[in-house]
Amino acid sequence: MKDRDLEHPVITNLLATGEPDGGRRREVLCPACGDPCCTFYANRFGSVFACENCVSVEDAEYLMEE
Ligand SMILES: [Zn+2]
Repeated sequence: MKDRDLEHPVITNLLATGEPDGGRRREVLCPACGDPCCTFYANRFGSVFACENCVSVEDAEYLMEE
């Protein structure tokens, strides 16, 4: 806790957002495709495997017929 108390807000912002003022909205990048995204998709164990940019909904029966 001591180190955190000594840390200047600008340093904290730089570490967290890459911006000294911290005012810019933090960009969240998908761990799978690397694109900026708003929604993560995770399995039931909480592991993120996709975002709204790199996942799609497919009809299971249709795919099995191919
Ligand atoms: Zn993605």
